[in-house]
Amino acid sequence: MTATILIVEDESDLSAIIADYVTAAGYEVDVIADGRAALTRVKHRSPDLIVLDIMLPGLDGLSLCKQVRTFSDVPIIMVTARVEEIDRLLGLETGADDYLCKPFSPRELVARIRAILRRQRKPDDDMRLFNIDEPTRTVRIRSQALDLTPTEYSLFTAMAKRPGTIHSRAQLLDFASRDNLDVTDRAIDSHIKNLRRKLSVLLPDVEIIHSVYGLGYRIEL
Ligand code: CA
Repeated sequence: MTATILIVEDESDLSAIIADYVTAAGYEVDVIADGRAALTRVKHRSPDLIVLDIMLPGLDGLSLCKQVRTFSDVPIIMVTARVEEIDRLLGLETGADDYLCKPFSPRELVARIRAILRRQRKPDDDMRLFNIDEPTRTVRIRSQALDLTPTEYSLFTAMAKRPGTIHSRAQLLDFASRDNLDVTDRAIDSHIKNLRRKLSVLLPDVEIIHSVYGLGYRIEL
């Protein structure tokens, strides 16, 4: 079945270009220019992914994203006109899965759409790279348990639950403190470094934790 991509963008020149590329990439495309109309559309005809501009008439992208999250886990790529805004958005925990800054290349957008939809396909349990046993706070890779500190476990599971999503240091710090762990902002990087080292022993050829320059970390599966 062809995936449907909903493009919510009020600049018609831009949405036409995006729609062309996304259609050429083999997806069904729906374009809506108004935030409130987009919310209704998402409720009635659930798309497979939403490309969402922030500045919109009717209802802004941020509010729309929050409202969609109350009833749907549909992947959302948020588009902003200012690169500085991405940092602020990460801090707000908008619920978006990825962020793009204008002007972006339509090719890059299509690549992100493909990557997100690929991740959506749930791998079979025995195909999974790792599994997390919450009651015992254990992470296993190919049935071998990793020897993680409580902080490493906390950071790993926080990121693993939302693969592909960028987690800022502040968000990771917040996860650790929810687990009553005493971690400082600066220490996050060294915990991640240790975590990577432990992961690489069992998975020498795979990079699971990626750094996103200036923003934070993401787990890619
Ligand atoms: Ca706009």
